[in-house]
Amino acid sequence: MHATFFFLGTQVESHPDLAREVVDRGHEVALHGYGHERQDRTPPQRSAEDLQRGFSVLDESLGVQCRWYRPPYGRMSAAAARTCASLGMSVVYWSTWGLDWERISAARIAEIVTGELDDGGIVLLHDSARYARRQSAAATADAIEVIVENARERGISLTSLGDAVSAA
Ligand SMILES: [Zn+2]
Repeated sequence: MHATFFFLGTQVESHPDLAREVVDRGHEVALHGYGHERQDRTPPQRSAEDLQRGFSVLDESLGVQCRWYRPPYGRMSAAAARTCASLGMSVVYWSTWGLDWERISAARIAEIVTGELDDGGIVLLHDSARYARRQSAAATADAIEVIVENARERGISLTSLGDAVSAA
């Protein structure tokens, strides 16, 4: 099963081997920014620089030209939208999230996601606790097994955004 990982340029610079492993395992890589900017509170010039720098880091270190941008905190700005367009990226939101930045159990994450999972949906989960209240992403990792099993039973296939769009 493949997912789309929205990377931060800063984290790719800090953990290049892990970033490379995600690509080598066949997952899709997309952009979450260079830093973790809340775009609606970021001056336009800095917004543009954040996206350009993040896009370049992923291109140069992984050979990936990102198609998608998911804004931190789901907050966009006109400058961020313009920069996405100039870099050829589409802005991506989600239809379901696991509330997994909170300190909740794997069972609860799985319950929320499977309760809202539907054909054509986009599930947002987090592989890190870096910008969250929780201590680790272990609960998310455990929840994924339950979510995958539930989707399989219902005949819903889970795949990366790029593959889903190509198949549509
Ligand atoms: Zn984030």
